Amino acid sequence: MSRLAVVCGGSRGIGAAVSRLLAQRGCRVAVLSRNEDASRAAVAALPGDHHVAFSCDVSKEQEVQRTFESIRRTCGHVSYLVNAAGINRDALLLRSRPEDMLALLHTNLLGCMLTCRAALRDMLHMQEAAIVNIGSVVGLKGNAGQCVYSATKAGLEGFTRSLAKEVASRNVRVNLLAPGFIRTDMTGGLSEEQTARSVPMGRFGEPEDVALAVLFLLESAYITGQVLVVDGGLQLAM
Ligand code: NDP
Repeated sequence: MSRLAVVCGGSRGIGAAVSRLLAQRGCRVAVLSRNEDASRAAVAALPGDHHVAFSCDVSKEQEVQRTFESIRRTCGHVSYLVNAAGINRDALLLRSRPEDMLALLHTNLLGCMLTCRAALRDMLHMQEAAIVNIGSVVGLKGNAGQCVYSATKAGLEGFTRSLAKEVASRNVRVNLLAPGFIRTDMTGGLSEEQTARSVPMGRFGEPEDVALAVLFLLESAYITGQVLVVDGGLQLAM
């Protein structure tokens, strides 16, 4: 039986590219997002059979529990988990509303903790499993106008390194991938021409660039607790 990969936030952007690449490499993919129709459409576009779509808000504990139980029942044990579900609410701290701060914390940080916890119940009993969480270069370097977003992404770094230590002896690996500017809906509001001037490579990355690095981390049998930056050199200039 082929490996089962769960991709949270797999309906579009980076998560959709990861789902496509994993499906091309022979995995069965479970795509999660809040919008079931969008998850279904993403699954319909994947090569191969046996992929499944779920509506799941990763920030809601009971939904996460229910969804992973349903995945376990209908698809089997999870080998790979990719946490690409995320939102941004960019604003200077003085203009940030508490409800937006909570939405960021709940989706980007708590959501990742909940899905990792749910998936680990399976993973700890398998011979080998891997998790990749999607952080951001702003979680490593900070960025004006993104205090809360970058705090959630910095939080993911500590979470990833700690979880890697907790589960390494069971051959479960946990890594963080930190993208720079990637061309998706999330960056759709930015002027690419202007923003790309801050990137040493002079352009935004494609979701496929990130997907390839995610695949590398999932398949690399002796890498855990690491941060891999995929940013066209942006971090060097920050
Ligand atoms: P998109 O906005 O294109 O896609 C986000 C995905 O997450 C969608 O599938 C969305 O589906 C899903 N999602 C959002 N909230 C939830 C939720 N509560 N529960 C379940 N699914 C959810 O974003 P990107 O692909 O650009 O971003 C993917 C990840 O990469 C994010 O964590 C982002 O912070 C990070 N990142 C992106 C960068 C970029 O330049 N694009 C740079 C650095 C990091 P739906 O809305 O239907 O739920």
